[in-house]
Amino acid sequence: MKRRVKRNKNRKKKRKEKELQEKMGMFDKLPDACDACEKTFDKKDKSMVQSWSVVVREAQGVVRLYCPNCWDTAIKVIEEVENG
Ligand SMILES: [Zn+2]
Repeated sequence: MKRRVKRNKNRKKKRKEKELQEKMGMFDKLPDACDACEKTFDKKDKSMVQSWSVVVREAQGVVRLYCPNCWDTAIKVIEEVENG
């Protein structure tokens, strides 16, 4: 029983690594500017990487990037649409 649990855990870890690799692959495709206002995005700026929002459309292989301002606006629009 114990061994089985361990094996499951390992499999889960492997999948996590694969997901991470795929995410990093997508990271390469990151645009260098906000998709809405075209503000420049600096991939080397950690605070930018953490605060900007990435939308991945895997089916189309498209990666969109939004600065916090535009993301905020987008969220508000979505909320308005959902509530109203
Ligand atoms: Zn923007």
